[in-house]
Amino acid sequence: MTAEPMSQRTTVRRGASHAEYGRAELLAILRAGPVAHVGVNTSDGPLVLPMAYGVTTEVMYLHGALANSLLKAGTGGVCATVTLLDGLVIAKTSFNNTMNYRSVVVRGTPRLVTDEAERLVALRVITNHIVANWEHLRPPSESELRATRIIALPLDEMSAKVRTGPPVNDDVDADAPHWCGEIPLVSAWAAPVTAPDAGAPVPSSIAAMGRNATKH
Ligand SMILES: Cc1cc2nc3c(=O)[nH]c(=O)nc-3n(C[C@H](O)[C@H](O)[C@H](O)COP(=O)(O)OP(=O)(O)OC[C@H]3O[C@@H](n4cnc5c(N)ncnc54)[C@H](O)[C@@H]3O)c2cc1C
Repeated sequence: MTAEPMSQRTTVRRGASHAEYGRAELLAILRAGPVAHVGVNTSDGPLVLPMAYGVTTEVMYLHGALANSLLKAGTGGVCATVTLLDGLVIAKTSFNNTMNYRSVVVRGTPRLVTDEAERLVALRVITNHIVANWEHLRPPSESELRATRIIALPLDEMSAKVRTGPPVNDDVDADAPHWCGEIPLVSAWAAPVTAPDAGAPVPSSIAAMGRNATKH
């Protein structure tokens, strides 16, 4: 474990040896994750939806349609979780099975982003998350901007849990005749497939993704 918890409610209690609070480490996980699962309380109960996102060192930006119920409810408080699954960990009993992972939980009260300059920054940050190709796109039109709600969740209260390594078996199972070990999960982007109406060659930032086949 590194650094101090950022708040009481983001202090990991269960499995505290896997806790991580270092800002740089947490930002690295957030930058690697493709999807955030965003949870809110709504008038008809809790709701968790997967969403695209982008992060600066200070905030997580989320966006969607003006009518998006989660983003509307979100201004009352949200919890956003990003999970990177790195492998299955098979022990000698199902009780000790687990997974290797890196996950970040961000809790807080987002603000609605209304400043036009910041809204463009937010859309660029979300667009460039994972692959930086904002400058290869037509800029958003006035009507597209009007149709988009953007919120900024401060990265002031967050925690991570990171598990790596082999299974931990009980002493009683030391000589038990069962296989145990890890099944690593490797996620990679494949080579981009150009659409028939593409008006330009594959941008280098996109071409590099398929070549590099990075683990996320
Ligand atoms: C891919 C994956 C699969 C999992 N499967 C299971 C499962 O099947 N059963 C199970 O019990 N647990 C599972 N976990 C662990 C689970 O996420 C919780 O950490 C655990 O259940 C403890 O919950 P708690 O409410 O007691 O946490 P507490 O330790 O009481 O939570 C307190 C605070 O710790 C932080 N925190 C808790 N969990 C995480 C996390 N995963 N990442 C970042 N911050 C966290 C949050 O800020 C939270 O508010 C899984 C985790 C991952 C990443």
